Amino acid sequence: MWFSMTDTRHETTDDTVVVTGAAGFIASHLVRQLLEAGYVVRGTVRNLARREGYAHLLALPGADARLELVEADLTTAGAFDAVVDGAAFVMHTASPYALSVADPQRDLVDPAVKGTLNVLEACARASSVRRVVLTSSMAAITDEPGGDHVLTEADWNDKSSLSRNPYYFSKAEAEREAWAFMRSVDRGFDLVVVNPFLVIGPAIGPASNESTQVFVDLQQGGYPGILDLTWGFVDVRDVADAHVRAMITPAASGRYICAGDVLSMRQVVAVLRECLPNSGKLPSRGLDNSLGTRVVKLASYTQPSGAGTYLRTHLGRVPRYDASKIQRELGVTFRPATDSIRDTVDDLVARGRMAD
Ligand code: NDP
Repeated sequence: MWFSMTDTRHETTDDTVVVTGAAGFIASHLVRQLLEAGYVVRGTVRNLARREGYAHLLALPGADARLELVEADLTTAGAFDAVVDGAAFVMHTASPYALSVADPQRDLVDPAVKGTLNVLEACARASSVRRVVLTSSMAAITDEPGGDHVLTEADWNDKSSLSRNPYYFSKAEAEREAWAFMRSVDRGFDLVVVNPFLVIGPAIGPASNESTQVFVDLQQGGYPGILDLTWGFVDVRDVADAHVRAMITPAASGRYICAGDVLSMRQVVAVLRECLPNSGKLPSRGLDNSLGTRVVKLASYTQPSGAGTYLRTHLGRVPRYDASKIQRELGVTFRPATDSIRDTVDDLVARGRMAD
């Protein structure tokens, strides 16, 4: 154990916290919250020459004095050795997030798995690291929600593969390898894992995000009708807060499902219609019935394979999960999903990605 009964100080704001993939959607909020709390933050980006990708981080309050950005690619062996040296905590958020890619092994699984192991190996070599917080996903819990089963942290996605929901596969494999590493190696740190569902909310950086893209697609007429899809939502600000709490709570352990309200596409469209009353392209045709689902499943074979398998494994299925562990043990609370959707839309409109 790295803390004892006599030493109750788990962390101080003098501690350096590493955030991998610091310019990403979730990580940018995490960097902001860590800087606000007074920590010294060392963030990694893939390419320091692409300043437009991370300029928003340099503008955050506290960044001048307490934010350092360094380059590291997930697939480069040893890339994180110098990055984590001297840090007390490591938040490993970087991982490719895309449903459809050209080569699932190269583009998803390799960076997710090799990147996670690279980071953990670096932490094992650095004597300073006390805890790693890994951003996993509900994708590591299941790729086919639904039925009567209430999902908990005990569930593992063992159905995904390179040809079936490869992004889900990459997240499940990366988390599995992380726990296997922790069991096999004698090291001085522990691992806490956060498993968010669909993350929405306002972005800090310019990056578009796979999870908020669904609102843009809905508004721009990208759906033939209202599909029988249902998601668990969680606000990006709550996800960042969950990571900070996972870091500072000494007794935190294991995995934490991080998800609030469950909303169907029909409910999401109703909120979007309220926010965007002049938006004529929002879907209105009801395909959220058994006939609609059969038709959309057939049509899914014409979609890119990642999107196609996603549809076939999610249409007509309502996720049921128990997110009480994170609320009970870490004190995380979740904003109502309808508020998060409104904030997301305001942000997308302000950035010109959606017309109001
Ligand atoms: P983003 O795409 O915004 O962030 C992903 C980050 O990973 C980026 O910073 C990206 O860096 C970095 N990255 C990708 N590939 C590499 C690589 N080869 N080397 C170094 N860095 C790399 O997505 P999110 O913020 O949404 O996702 C962050 C984490 O949260 C991921 O692990 C994702 O799987 C997980 N997650 C996301 C959910 C969501 O709904 N958004 C839900 C559940 C989990 P760069 O800026 O250089 O591209």
